[in-house]
Amino acid sequence: MKLHTGEKPFKCTWPTCHYSFLTASAMKDHYRTHTGLFRNYVFIIFQVIYKTHL
Ligand SMILES: [Zn+2]
Repeated sequence: MKLHTGEKPFKCTWPTCHYSFLTASAMKDHYRTHTGLFRNYVFIIFQVIYKTHL
């Protein structure tokens, strides 16, 4: 696997992420891991709040 990050024009726009990709679709696939994790995290927090209020 090559490590030529300067040749990859599609950079992840997630604030704390520094990944970059050769194609837009590869970037979108990667970006989905951020949003998926974030949604899971929010869902878990919401469940905890809901349970503690019952
Ligand atoms: Zn990223």
